[in-house]
Amino acid sequence: MRKTIIAGNWKMNHTGKDAKETITGLVGRVVQDVKAEVVVAPVFPYLPMAVELTKGTPIHVAAQNMHWEESGAFTGEVSPAMLVDIGVTHVIIGHSERRTYFNETDETVNKKTKAALAHNLTPIVCCGETLEQREEGIMQPWIEGQIEKALEGIGADDLAKVVIAYEPIWAIGTGKTATAAQAQEVCSIIRKKIAALYSADVADSVSVLYGGSVKGGNVAELTGSPDIDGGLVGGASLKVDDFMAIIDNAV
Ligand code: 13P
Repeated sequence: MRKTIIAGNWKMNHTGKDAKETITGLVGRVVQDVKAEVVVAPVFPYLPMAVELTKGTPIHVAAQNMHWEESGAFTGEVSPAMLVDIGVTHVIIGHSERRTYFNETDETVNKKTKAALAHNLTPIVCCGETLEQREEGIMQPWIEGQIEKALEGIGADDLAKVVIAYEPIWAIGTGKTATAAQAQEVCSIIRKKIAALYSADVADSVSVLYGGSVKGGNVAELTGSPDIDGGLVGGASLKVDDFMAIIDNAV
């Protein structure tokens, strides 16, 4: 049985005071027997604080990015070992904003995913198509290509530790949610691709999340779909009440 995962990607939002208030608020409300695995991804400077505040709670802390190398002359970068060292357990890889604004490619996504697995960090690997690609009718080969390249060279044993997030670029921060049927269709394409690359059993073990304008009001229908195992939430993860509504309504 795959677990439901609700991950909050704060992007470049919340300075220290707001980050502290939000995490403290979540800690007070996310109960030990919460059904979903809850993850929050603040910016790098507040990761140690987030780890400290969530110690002994069911809330996990993710980074929004990392480099694949161990150490060295990579100004401005952070290594997987450094994230592990401060108690981070998850890392978002290949978000469309990183692909669009920071030259993230399928190749770097693959290197980062392998590095995360090698360090026992749970990679949340993002994929998704633009509106133009969807309208041109090339969504399916595009998504399948992103999945194949992201997972290249990764063994079946490691796949159960990988989380995939399908985030249609046209639904991010736009208020336009994919319908549950649209999201289910693509999450099923992703799972079938993993089954073709590995096996049906392996595909069954991988958590596939949907992201793009997830809210308390649409999360039940989305996560109630057979191939959607949770949500990667942007805007609605910044406020305790909004994020709790998603956590509480996820199925
Ligand atoms: P929104 O929930 O703000 O649309 O953002 C989705 C996202 O990009 C999460 O990674």
